[in-house]
Amino acid sequence: MTLSLVTIPCLKDNYAYLLHDEASDETVLIDAPEAGPILAELKKRGWSLDAIWLTHHHWDHIDGVGPIVEATSAAVLGAAADSHRLPPLSRELVEGDTIKIGAELAQVIDVSGHTLGHIAFYLPVSGMAFTADSLMAAGCGRLFEGTPDLMFASLAKLRKLPPETLICSGHEYTTSNLAFAATVDPDNQALHARSARVAKARAEGRATVPSRLAGELATNPFLRADDPHIRQRLGMADATDAQVFTQLRAMKDRF
Ligand code: ZN
Ligand code: FE
Repeated sequence: MTLSLVTIPCLKDNYAYLLHDEASDETVLIDAPEAGPILAELKKRGWSLDAIWLTHHHWDHIDGVGPIVEATSAAVLGAAADSHRLPPLSRELVEGDTIKIGAELAQVIDVSGHTLGHIAFYLPVSGMAFTADSLMAAGCGRLFEGTPDLMFASLAKLRKLPPETLICSGHEYTTSNLAFAATVDPDNQALHARSARVAKARAEGRATVPSRLAGELATNPFLRADDPHIRQRLGMADATDAQVFTQLRAMKDRF
């Protein structure tokens, strides 16, 4: 059993995702930046939408919910912690909850840091994680509400997933993320190889998401606070991993 995954570019640099289960004919949308491209994709594929799973409350992830619910009557699932600032929810989620598409389970993981209440959805059978603005391709979300320690702990949960997991993140920020990564991890050959692949993809107008966790572990500096070269580069050989992460995040904010 495998699910179909469709990546939908929205707004300037957002991504929404559709999951479709052939056996049950169920379709789920992860995040709703805007209704137009999502409804067009559903129509093109002849899929009717059953549910919208929301990762966090930022407008560029939820603005499409109203018109999409109006058009499809989809159920809306989101974090209980965010229910006061999300569109009306059919179900409120907390870490450890499992939700379903067809026969497949998705686990709810609290990945607060970008916001408090940001959740991710992990589907162990299909090997996908919808991480939005927590773990991103070659980067991680900016800390609007959480502390660096909180984001570090959230990323540690994602880091432990199987390396072949597909990381479905929320934005096309990969080019600038890799440019930053090269400043703190300049001798990393996997990083340079990824930068070349990403430059080619962008030149051809292709999305650079989803990405494999294995590739993130090899090239994403926010998963590499324990890397000796990065630590040495930052002059933080004796710091804790969380301290190195905090410094990396601060440097990226100024980049
Ligand atoms: Zn956000
Ligand atoms: Fe966002």
